This record gives sequence, structure tokens and C-alpha cells, in this order.
Amino acid sequence: MRLILMGPPGAGKGTQARFVAEHFGVPAISTGDIFRANVSQGTPLGVEAKRFMDAGEYVPDEVTNKMVRNRIDESDAEPGFLLDGYPRTLAQVEELDGMIAFTGHKLDAVVVLTVDPEELVQRLLQRAQTDGRTDDTEDVIRRRQEVYTEQTEPLIGVYRERGILVELDGMGEVDDVTQRIFDALDEIPQS
Ligand code: ADP
Repeated sequence: MRLILMGPPGAGKGTQARFVAEHFGVPAISTGDIFRANVSQGTPLGVEAKRFMDAGEYVPDEVTNKMVRNRIDESDAEPGFLLDGYPRTLAQVEELDGMIAFTGHKLDAVVVLTVDPEELVQRLLQRAQTDGRTDDTEDVIRRRQEVYTEQTEPLIGVYRERGILVELDGMGEVDDVTQRIFDALDEIPQS
């Protein structure tokens, strides 16, 4: 199973990614988590990524694409994967298409979680208090929402045209959202 989980910052991608990946027996690959791990370890990749992340901007495509390519090449991702936070730009969509085509597989589904804008800001401000992420200040949150609208929302139309888009309501209890995702994806023939 090769899946993408999409949605604006605060939509609950990271939370759901873990459950969905476990359900399908594939690794959850979160570009945000990989960047944050590199930042905390002070690697050259982390040093480069931090400037962009702290401003709410995307890390340049070349950097992100290379990182994802390396991760997907690992053996645990051979049976499939769930991508959380990638692709986020049209250039990344193209790059991912190439990576998947190279292995002779296809993308099975793209799940988009939809959440009211006010609810998103509330969730992120709440997370700022509990997790203390450096990109969870109010200005940066606002910037991340803008960047999502400008650069990532257009991807929804691309995947809709391909007939693999699954749009789901991301509001309500975590468990209910998980169940909605399972119900929708269990309908899809696995590759
Ligand atoms: P959220 O789920 O809150 O939107 P993430 O944890 O997925 O945030 O990502 C945090 C930051 O990592 C992003 O704001 C961005 O700077 C960087 N990042 C993550 N994924 C990508 C990507 N695919 N392309 C570019 N930058 C990315």
C-alpha cells in the first residue's frame, strides 16, 4: 500500500499517520519528523532545514526530495509506505511519481483531512503549549497556513483528477477520524 496523508498544518496528519501505517503494516514517513530529528541532532541537513522551518517556510525541494528518496529506498518501505507531509509542492509530486514509477509500483490513495480554519489555529496554539515546537508561534502558524494554501492546496486538484483522492472530515474525536480513514481505505484494492 502506498499512501499519502495530506491536510493543512494542524489537521492531525501526524496523529493519524501512526494508526493508519500500523493498520496497513507499512512505515509512516513524516518529513517534518525527519527534519526535526536532524535539527535536534545538529546534522548539516538539520542546520539547513531549521532556518526555513522556524520561519514557517518550506525547506527547498532539492533537499526534501533527496531526503525522501533515501528514506523510501530503505528496505522497510519496500512493501509500501505512508507519507505524512510529502509531497507539499507540485515539483515534489513529480519527483515522487518518478520514485514510485522506478520501483514499478503505483500510488494507491491520497487522503486529505479537512478541518475548519479556526479549529486549526486552536489546535496549533494548544500544541505550542504542550510540545513547545519552535514553529508553533502565532505568526509562524499563520505563515504556515498561507504557504499551505499557496503551494500545497493545488495538489488536491492534481490527485483528484487522477481519481485517487479521498477527502475526509478531520473534525471530531481522534478515534472517529481514524475509523473514517480505515473505512475509506478498506474499500481500495491494495497493490
Ligand atoms: P505540520 O504537520 O504542522 O504542517 P510538519 O511537522 O509536517 O508540520 O513539518 C514541519 C516543517 O518541516 C514544515 O513547516 C516545513 O518547513 C518542513 N517540511 C516538512 N515537510 C516538507 C516538505 N515536503 N517540503 C518542504 N518542507 C517540508
